[in-house]
Amino acid sequence: MDLFEYQGKQYFSRFGIAVSPGDIADTVDEAVAVAERVGYPVVIKAQVKVGGRGKAGGVKLANNVDEVRLHAGNILGLDIKGHVVRRVWVERSSDITKEYYASFTLDRPNKSHLGMLSAQGGVEIEVVAEENPDAISFLSIDPVRGLDLATARKWVDEAQLDEVAQEQAAELLVKLYECYTKGDCDLAEINPLILTPDNKVHALDAKVTLDENASFRHPEWEEFRATETEDPREKMAKEKGLNYIGLDGTVGIIANGAGLAMSTLDVVNQVGGTAANFLDIGGGANADVMASALEVINADPKVKAIFVNIFGGITRVDEVAKGVLEALKRVSISSPIVLRLDGTNAVEGRAILAPHVSDTLITEPTMLDAARRAVELANS
Ligand code: GDP
Ligand code: MN
Repeated sequence: MDLFEYQGKQYFSRFGIAVSPGDIADTVDEAVAVAERVGYPVVIKAQVKVGGRGKAGGVKLANNVDEVRLHAGNILGLDIKGHVVRRVWVERSSDITKEYYASFTLDRPNKSHLGMLSAQGGVEIEVVAEENPDAISFLSIDPVRGLDLATARKWVDEAQLDEVAQEQAAELLVKLYECYTKGDCDLAEINPLILTPDNKVHALDAKVTLDENASFRHPEWEEFRATETEDPREKMAKEKGLNYIGLDGTVGIIANGAGLAMSTLDVVNQVGGTAANFLDIGGGANADVMASALEVINADPKVKAIFVNIFGGITRVDEVAKGVLEALKRVSISSPIVLRLDGTNAVEGRAILAPHVSDTLITEPTMLDAARRAVELANS
């Protein structure tokens, strides 16, 4: 789960990371009230879960009430890369001497955590990585040993942060690492991390992604979940207890088993199509589950064809075939369905479907054939 900047800053605060005083506002009047409280000048910042807000006009400085009204009025309702701003964060403006970058994220191939630190922050780190890769200092962290202050001190020196910033930055990085590990983040990023003219180091932005696998030990995440604007398809799938992830393509996918579902996406891509979703119906491919799966996929207006890819192991294909027919009685589907049924009792399963095969209910013998057919239908 991605957090809004203000939520990321609240999360940082819990781990002792310095941020600017501020508060959220959903209206211009509220923004004025916050500005009066924290004191001018203030920065008004669009709260959307997408980067590059500054460039898009979503971050503005205001020196007085009139400027707060002007900028808050412009930013609320602004569309930033498809995200409409419903809330702003108003904080005391900081004077900036230097902008740094700091982040921790997971390095799966190396079974470790990866710290990234740069004295050239403020711009997108991808741009720095492209144009000036030497300006980023990488630190691989053994998750068992963690990050201690001595290592952080060496790291800030290596990354060539200004002398006056180094000790504070090292301490802050240890706290950020705590936040990232104890706080169960997949990503904890500060860009920019600033040095002020009075030699203070603090976080001016916050990008936090929480690891949903750890949500069982964080009842306090509920407040973050409350502000999530969920994909309506994913919401519907969750209500029906399905393992569904929405994607942007035109071929709806139903498969049994996460591995098969993922390879189905690959094969669809390989033959020139795009998947509308990932959906693993697991072992329980009965009529109820199949009907739920078809309903969710059918509700996606982008879907032009549906590919049902079942390999019967413990699941028996004849049961799946009955499930499909039963589900089709309950839900009326607007896209053609291509089925590939193989594995245990496949012959019986195909026999059950045979009398019902039509232009909109098609069976194919192999995964590749079925993918080709589904993609052809989706693209026609
Ligand atoms: P992003 O564009 O979505 O990453 O939003 P940021 O929070 O990083 O803000 C973008 C830029 O606005 C920063 O890199 C700063 O240069 C500037 N900015 C943000 N807050 C302040 C502030 O308090 N004072 C000043 N002077 N500039 C700020
Ligand atoms: Mn930023």
